[in-house]
Amino acid sequence: MVSKEEFKREVWKFAEDINAKPEQIRLRDMKLKKGSCSRKKIITFDKSLLNMDPSLRREAIIHELLHLRYRHHGKLFKAVLKTYLNEEVP
Ligand SMILES: [Zn+2]
Repeated sequence: MVSKEEFKREVWKFAEDINAKPEQIRLRDMKLKKGSCSRKKIITFDKSLLNMDPSLRREAIIHELLHLRYRHHGKLFKAVLKTYLNEEVP
């Protein structure tokens, strides 16, 4: 389990890694989704991510961060996501 602060630090770090620039990172209970990305570049994550396996958490974070670049789950989104997920974290 990570704290909210640790989680947010992790998100900002990944954002830097993939050159994404969210306006704000939020955490709340979302129930149905793991995360969302608004048109105002505010990314909200479900609190359940705090208890999640680090690799799954990373996947969910990078997924939402990529929505800053691609709104939908198109071919390009999926290809880029796959590339980032297969990259080793430096
Ligand atoms: Zn998505």
